[in-house]
Order: sequence, then structure tokens, then C-alpha cells
Amino acid sequence: MRRVGITTTIPAEFIFAAGGVPVDLNNIFIADAAPMGMLERAERGGLPRAVCGWIKGMYGAALAANVESVIAVSDGDCSHTRSLAEILGTEGVKSIPFAYPYDRDYGLLKRQMDKLAAFFGITFADAEAMMRRMDRIRKKLHRIDEMTWRENTVTGFENHLFLVSASDMDGDMERFEQKVDAFMAEAAAREPLPQTIRLAYIGVPPIFTDIYQFLETRGARVIFNEVQRQFTFPFETGDLVERYRRYTYPYDVFSRVRDIEAEISRRGVHGVVHYVQSFCHHQMEDVVFRKHLAGLPLLTVEGDAPGPLDARTRLRIEGFCEMLGSKRRKAAS
Ligand code: SF4
Repeated sequence: MRRVGITTTIPAEFIFAAGGVPVDLNNIFIADAAPMGMLERAERGGLPRAVCGWIKGMYGAALAANVESVIAVSDGDCSHTRSLAEILGTEGVKSIPFAYPYDRDYGLLKRQMDKLAAFFGITFADAEAMMRRMDRIRKKLHRIDEMTWRENTVTGFENHLFLVSASDMDGDMERFEQKVDAFMAEAAAREPLPQTIRLAYIGVPPIFTDIYQFLETRGARVIFNEVQRQFTFPFETGDLVERYRRYTYPYDVFSRVRDIEAEISRRGVHGVVHYVQSFCHHQMEDVVFRKHLAGLPLLTVEGDAPGPLDARTRLRIEGFCEMLGSKRRKAAS
């Protein structure tokens, strides 16, 4: 079966409808037993030190996962993706171009999808039918998200893991749905979790392997994972193009701000962790988030390579959680 590497959320409906297997290279990289090995493989292959760890990891993952092609998102993903696809081309991996039009032009986005349909030898209607099948699973992911912030029975890491997997549904929708069903049944039987500090996690998914778990040891739990939630398309529309127009991540930062503000208020968030990746252009968005989310304490955390939190970051997180805890105690007294 055709294995197609993806570097971010793209309309996976087209791959599944063609009988292919989408492989999210980010997930292959970070879930590997030795992700540093993938990163080092990229550096041995010549990728510079001053390139984001995710890019290097995805390079190693693409080679390890035996993908025959990769969808190269030239607009709306990462400034490094095009080069990554070109380098993978030298290793025999074909690239399939795709772009999110920055101005969300409906016609242009439809044209991009038509090109995907032509590439995979299917019709647009085939992809629409697949969207309806995938939506059945996405609805369950929305429920897991709700169990995280409303019922407090799902940890921040579990929320992250299930929502981030929506990009490729682990490459096997049937098995993924069974995993989701089993988890929902298990979480439904739990008592509410004890952490009282409610956090939003915004920015790209973390390269740190233990940030959610460490926060929970400090009395704080992530109850909103911004980008991961977007991967599940948390809005109602049966129009495939519109679906990918409303998805916030590939477009301007201000639509992300509006989404974050709405969710912070709906979920009763006490503080925000903004994760930034070393050598990533998204780091600059910290300026915008600090201006627009000024009413809430915000901690910016930077990661570089896969592994546990470093001592300095642990100290900063500890201080942040202590400050939020003391604010809450004062407000309650
Ligand atoms: S973290 Fe930033 S630089 Fe790295 S792959 Fe993602 S968008 Fe690109």
C-alpha cells in the first residue's frame, strides 16, 4: 500500500480515499524509542545544526518509515518544509506539492485539493465521502477533549496524544477508532483528576517528552492543547474546502488568537504555556500572544532536541505553577 509522508495536517481524506496510508513524520519521530538517533542521522546526512529539531527528526523518520512520497506544504506550514522535501528527493522520495493560500481563498484551496485528487487518481466526491467517515472518529476526539476540561478525567498528555494523532489517524482508521473507543470507556470510569491549576498549551507540539507529566506533579494540568485540537477540526461544516479554510494553524496568527481567547474563556484557564521550538519562525508569534493574551500569566518555554525537560526549564515551570497556585489561594481567601 502507498505510504505517504506528511509533515503537518493536510487533507488526509485524499490519501485514505485512494487506499494509501498517511504517515505523520512528526509522530513517527517523537514516538520512536530513540528519537535522537533520527535527528543525528539527519545531521550525518548534512542538515545544519541550526535547523529545527522537528525538521531533522522528520528527515530521519521519512527514511526509517519507508515512505514513497511526501506531501510538501509550500505555504501554511513551515519555512523549512520545501527544502526538506527537496533533500528527501535526493534519497528517492517523491514530493507532492500542496499549499494553503494565505488569504484563505476558497477557489485556490479547492484547486489545490483538485490537484491532490488528480495525483491520487480519485474524484473530489471520493474525498468528501472519506471526510464523512473520518468525521465519525473526529467527533469522538472532540468528546475526549471535552472530557479533559469539563469532566477532568483526561490528562493533558492523553489529550495531546489522541488529538495530535488526528493528522494521520495512526495510518489505520479502524484500529485508531478502536483505540479511541477503549480509551473513552476507560476514562469515563475515572474519578476527576486532582490538579487545580488549569493551563492552556499553545504553539507547536512539544519536543520535550515529559512536559505534561511534570506540570501535573506541580498541581497544574493542561486542559487545552491549541494546535492539537485544531487537527481534529472542531467546527461544524460538511464542506471539505471550508473545513480546511476554517482550520486556523496554516493561516495568520490572529485567527489563532481568536480561537485561543474563546477557548480560554470557555474552559476557565488560569495560565498559558507557550511552547516555542529553537530555530522556528513561529517563535516570533510570542510577541503577538503576549499582547493579545495580556490578562493571563504566560510562560514561554523553548525546546530544542527530544528528551526530558532540562533543569532550567523545570525550575521556570515550577516557579510559574507556584505563582499561579498562590494567586488562586489569595483569590479564594
Ligand atoms: S517547529 Fe517550526 S521550524 Fe520546526 S518543523 Fe515545526 S514549524 Fe517548522
